[in-house]
Amino acid sequence: MASSFSAGAKVELCKNVPQKSCCALAECFGILLFCNSFSADGIRIITESQEFAQMLPKLFRKAFGVTFDVYPETLEQGKRVFAVNNSEKIRTIMDSYGFDAKNTVALHINLPVVEEDCCKAAFLRGAFLAGGSVTDPGKAYHLELATIHQGVSRQAYTLMHEVLGFYPKIAKRGGGQVLYLKQSDQISDCLAYLGASVASMGIIEAKLEKELNNKVNRRCNCDEANTSKVVEAAQEQLNAIRLLREKGIFEQLAPKLQQAFIAREQNPEASLTELAGMMEPPITKPAMNHRLKKLVELSKEVTQ
Ligand SMILES: [Zn+2]
Repeated sequence: MASSFSAGAKVELCKNVPQKSCCALAECFGILLFCNSFSADGIRIITESQEFAQMLPKLFRKAFGVTFDVYPETLEQGKRVFAVNNSEKIRTIMDSYGFDAKNTVALHINLPVVEEDCCKAAFLRGAFLAGGSVTDPGKAYHLELATIHQGVSRQAYTLMHEVLGFYPKIAKRGGGQVLYLKQSDQISDCLAYLGASVASMGIIEAKLEKELNNKVNRRCNCDEANTSKVVEAAQEQLNAIRLLREKGIFEQLAPKLQQAFIAREQNPEASLTELAGMMEPPITKPAMNHRLKKLVELSKEVTQ
């Protein structure tokens, strides 16, 4: 099942039939090599995308001057099946790519068809429309192109590296092969290259959102850790103060320490900054920390 994100990307890619006839031919080539079947016996293209189903007959007419022999009963829903069975039409299509209609055992990407840069993009767009999908980035990062032709997947791999600068991964699936991308930036670049700029931005946005959520979670954990440290320190100070009281040491302390002593004793939950502000005259947070540490040290000396 194509996810709605994938369907959205395909809507973007089907807005226009390629202007140039070289690109129309290349896009059809991508479609044919990545569709359900393409051989001398016939062509079958099955799609769940309504927009692709609307665009496909126009594209074939532009590229080959050929109509389909089988059209879906309705474009509204379900799996839409297009087929060419007429051998004359199949020969016309095969001829366009320099293939011998009698010998289609080893179909491959005929390089002159994808020689121009514009045609390379059109070819990969066709491959994506017929045999590709992209997962909703909120769930996972995954873009794939599936073909039943072994040689084609290897050539498409090389082509993707040439135009995008990164190597997709390859896996076997059923009788065919799948090229796929797992990194969000590569998926985003690939979609932008194909012409689906909204979907490309969608990948970037989903990634930013995830990073932001992670950052917020990390900050929360960090705050909690800090809070517990502050509470522990205050508890230690209060224990020290109680002990110094019991031993009658308060009266022997320097006035500055007495001030700190009383402030903490009367404000068990105050922060260092708050306590520092209570001193006469007010002091800095590190200075306040220093005074309280001094009290803790004294209490340790007393118990030794
Ligand atoms: Zn072109």
